[in-house]
Amino acid sequence: MSAGPGDARGPAGAREGGAWLVVADAGWRAALRVARGARSEVSAVVVGPRPLADAVAAAGVPVLWVEPGTGTPAEAYAGALAVQVAAEQPALLVGTGHPASRVLLGAAAALVGARLLTGAVDVVPVAVATGAAGGGGTGAVAPAWTVRRALLDGAVVETVDSPAPLALVVDVAAEDEDEGAATALSPGTVRPLAAAPAAMTLSTVPSAEPAGGLEDARVVVAFGRGVRSRDDVALIERLADALGAELACSMPVADDRGWLDRSRYVGRSGRHIAPRLYLAVGISGAPQHLEGVRGAKVVAAVDQDRAARIFRVADYGAVGDLYEVVPALITALQR
Ligand SMILES: Cc1cc2nc3c(=O)[nH]c(=O)nc-3n(C[C@H](O)[C@H](O)[C@H](O)COP(=O)(O)OP(=O)(O)OC[C@H]3O[C@@H](n4cnc5c(N)ncnc54)[C@H](O)[C@@H]3O)c2cc1C
Repeated sequence: MSAGPGDARGPAGAREGGAWLVVADAGWRAALRVARGARSEVSAVVVGPRPLADAVAAAGVPVLWVEPGTGTPAEAYAGALAVQVAAEQPALLVGTGHPASRVLLGAAAALVGARLLTGAVDVVPVAVATGAAGGGGTGAVAPAWTVRRALLDGAVVETVDSPAPLALVVDVAAEDEDEGAATALSPGTVRPLAAAPAAMTLSTVPSAEPAGGLEDARVVVAFGRGVRSRDDVALIERLADALGAELACSMPVADDRGWLDRSRYVGRSGRHIAPRLYLAVGISGAPQHLEGVRGAKVVAAVDQDRAARIFRVADYGAVGDLYEVVPALITALQR
């Protein structure tokens, strides 16, 4: 049987070399399942209301808990929590893809010097010999992990070996959030941590453009850097009108060019949408973009580069200049 990194670092019960769960949202059970695969002692740091900390403790995990003050973002505690977690020298950090969880995980990973992997599905410990005794090596065993992670909308599962320490981001399915309370024979303790937030919220107002329309849309037309100028956005708007579609874009169109509101970009760091039809125009199909359209029933694409990644996931594709294809599509739709 292989020894886990926790076993390799210290006696059972010692936290050093163990696994830490980072919790800031309701999807923590999926992350806990992954962490338990590590066969190390699992502890948790929870930023949120007391019932969240209690639920994690009820699953048998000792909890270090911070309750954000009114209007204080969970991320404001990232620095303080990272210091606490790093002091335990964890071999594994696990959290969800929730934005606050990612910030907390990233801060702790940076302090510990952990590698970061996204899309983790499971992890198992392996022990790697650093050199054979008598063969010039030390005969020591270095802790390491084998991780399976889902990529490209779950179409590909990659297996990765990594030495400890390692930080894993776990994608959470809706059913993980709905699961009832986990219980354990010996619930963990909840240890409150008094930490000063590093940031405060001054005001909370609705954004100029509510996202509801995009997330509920049956048809979405999105455009990317293939559109050459801001004036040309009108052409894509005409296509969206002809299809009765909501308009969306890739991240650089909103972030770098500012041609659409940031609430309109789709992808890992933007909106996750599930329309019946997603039509991408002049979007290359970077993995980070495709993460936002996993739920789309049908994907169609217009791109001049036949090798563009978007065509790997598209059900229908037109290889050509969007300035020719889109006007032709509009004409056909208006007939
Ligand atoms: C941590 C991280 C998170 C990220 N999160 C996101 C995210 O959430 N969402 C997101 O979108 N991106 C995200 N990105 C950026 C992502 O990696 C890509 O850089 C981005 O999606 C590319 O945008 P694009 O497809 O519009 O541009 P490009 O990749 O430049 O593609 C432009 C496409 O237009 C085509 N084209 C050019 N001219 C024409 C024409 N006349 N007719 C037809 N086709 C034409 C080209 O062939 C090309 O395929 C993230 C990156 C990182 C590192």
